[in-house]
Amino acid sequence: MATIFSKIVKGEIPSYKIAENDNCYAFLDINPIAKGHTLVIPKKEVDYFFDMDDNLYHELLDFTKEIAAALKKTYNCKKVGMAVIGLDVNHAHIHLVPLNSTADMDFSKVTMKFTDEQFQEIAAEIRANL
Ligand code: 5GP
Repeated sequence: MATIFSKIVKGEIPSYKIAENDNCYAFLDINPIAKGHTLVIPKKEVDYFFDMDDNLYHELLDFTKEIAAALKKTYNCKKVGMAVIGLDVNHAHIHLVPLNSTADMDFSKVTMKFTDEQFQEIAAEIRANL
């Protein structure tokens, strides 16, 4: 059965897309721990992040670097944090989170709520800085 992220890549489930190329896709996390919290995934279904083949792994990291640069420019944050967890969705993904303090990277905290319009604005702001 296709993962929820594969359905997002195919457009069967909507997402707030930031960017894509042939093999990678970036979109806003629907339960963000910070404004601009973005997920970067391989289009190919791989469950465990470190099971990706070397080419895809390196391509995903190169793509992630571009997205992180856009987040940094958009939010003028100190750093952009990167985390791989993958305990909820069995499709490899990187979390990118704009950071000003270590607490910004706390995945156990209550997530932020945005309206559809706000999510669209956030995605457009980030895309404009790619
Ligand atoms: P993890 O597997 O790394 O623990 O977390 C999966 C992440 O995917 C969570 O932050 C969750 O909010 C996000 N997520 C789960 N389902 C969807 C979805 O349908 N759309 C989007 N945009 N994010 C999702």
